Amino acid sequence: AKARGRNGYSFYTPSMTGEGVERLRLETFLRRSIEKDEIFLNYQPQVDIVTGELVGVEALVRWNHPELGLVPPVRFIPLAEDTGFINQLGQWVLREACRQMVRWQEAGLVVPKIAVNLSVKQFERGSIVNMVADTLHETGLEPARLQLEVTESVIMNTDDAMVFINDLHAIGVGLAIDDFGTGYSSLAYLKQLPVQTLKIDRSFIKDISTDVNDEAIAIAIIQLGKSMNLSVIAEGVETVQQAEFLVRHGCHLAQGYLYSKPLAADVMLTNWQK
Ligand code: C2E
Ligand code: CA
Ligand code: CA
Ligand code: CA
Repeated sequence: AKARGRNGYSFYTPSMTGEGVERLRLETFLRRSIEKDEIFLNYQPQVDIVTGELVGVEALVRWNHPELGLVPPVRFIPLAEDTGFINQLGQWVLREACRQMVRWQEAGLVVPKIAVNLSVKQFERGSIVNMVADTLHETGLEPARLQLEVTESVIMNTDDAMVFINDLHAIGVGLAIDDFGTGYSSLAYLKQLPVQTLKIDRSFIKDISTDVNDEAIAIAIIQLGKSMNLSVIAEGVETVQQAEFLVRHGCHLAQGYLYSKPLAADVMLTNWQK
């Protein structure tokens, strides 16, 4: 029911309250999600467009709650960031991703590389280098087989981003700029950072063949990567036309539904082991 003040002015609405309650409930559930074994990873193949070869996977976090069902990351990652839970979650994701690489290897599937997303909040606490180094050491994964994905916002909004990223480079892990071109940033940082990979955001790939501006941006990113000796991978590739466009313009790496949706670890094994 709508509560009314003396002057008849309604000072809160049921929907606002509902939202607050819903958020609190989600937050409470999320805090318990790791210990309740509700969090797991899916892995999306990254392929060489021309040869079809597997070049890596991206680890994508999933939350399956018994009441809520599968909650999409766009709903719980921002919440995890707001509440600080992202640090625990991010650490769990990294450890699980590294462990899975070792498990696949033992089962006979060599996945060359695994990409793991890092949130800007994971940089705000201070150095995450020890966390990454400890996890690699504990799991036995070679540092060169881990690639950390950060968005431009990490670089622009973290005071010590340069220091952290150089430290990560020093321990041998790779670095990719995720959603490249969508953030507010200067390109100047690119020449100062030990980055190996640019990921072209899906928003630029989506309308290739209908939107000339998106095509121009995709081409510009591919050229930029080439001239700076960086590898460029396109995300969200769904059609053969998009793949052909990319190859025609010199981008040979892709990730997207055309090749595979994100897969459970065991499905990854059966689909790609041969
Ligand atoms: P992202 O890093 O840009 O990941 C790519 C997203 O695009 C994934 O969504 C993936 O499932 C989806 N995708 C891949 N190929 C296609 C395609 O061909 N078509 C379409 N329509 N979508 C495609 P997902 O798994 O829902 O993840 C959404 C976002 O959540 C990610 O975007 C990333 O920013 C964040 N995220 C996911 N896992 C983690 C994590 O472990 N840590 C952090 N910090 N963020 C994560
Ligand atoms: Ca990513
Ligand atoms: Ca991305
Ligand atoms: Ca994206």
